[in-house]
Amino acid sequence: MNQFFSRRTFILIPIMSILKFILKPKKVLASSLTSEEDWSLSKEEWKKKLSPESYYILREEGTERAFSSPLNNEKRKGVFYCAGCNQALFTSDTKFDSGTGWPSFWDSIQGSVETKVDFKLIVPRTEYHCSRCGGHQGHVFNDGPLPTGKRYCNNGLALNFKAE
Ligand SMILES: [Zn+2]
Repeated sequence: MNQFFSRRTFILIPIMSILKFILKPKKVLASSLTSEEDWSLSKEEWKKKLSPESYYILREEGTERAFSSPLNNEKRKGVFYCAGCNQALFTSDTKFDSGTGWPSFWDSIQGSVETKVDFKLIVPRTEYHCSRCGGHQGHVFNDGPLPTGKRYCNNGLALNFKAE
């Protein structure tokens, strides 16, 4: 058993490093895109750019009051953009009524958000943010509808909606 395990590990390690190597060019591309427009702004620059409410959400990982965002009831066809840098994050096709009081989506546009685990409520939660400007958007849970089973619980103040 032990031998079997170590043999598998022995095979897995080179596969993982090959995968890492294959996946790397994507990251390089993403960062070279970022350098076209630099989104590493200072606190002061963000404060000038955003309303105090959006600054609190995007830059300080705040959470808006449930049912406070008009985007919660937005049902038109269109695209939801990051309120920090205008990157497209969600389409209306993936929006659903979760009943939580926050705009909810079962999928994000590929490559538009990145995640990290936070312990703000002691229980670990998966925080996600815009992959371009790093602005905090919300938390993602595994109790969403099919086909993904994900629930992206987003602050409306972190989004701008444009109807089609
Ligand atoms: Zn952004």
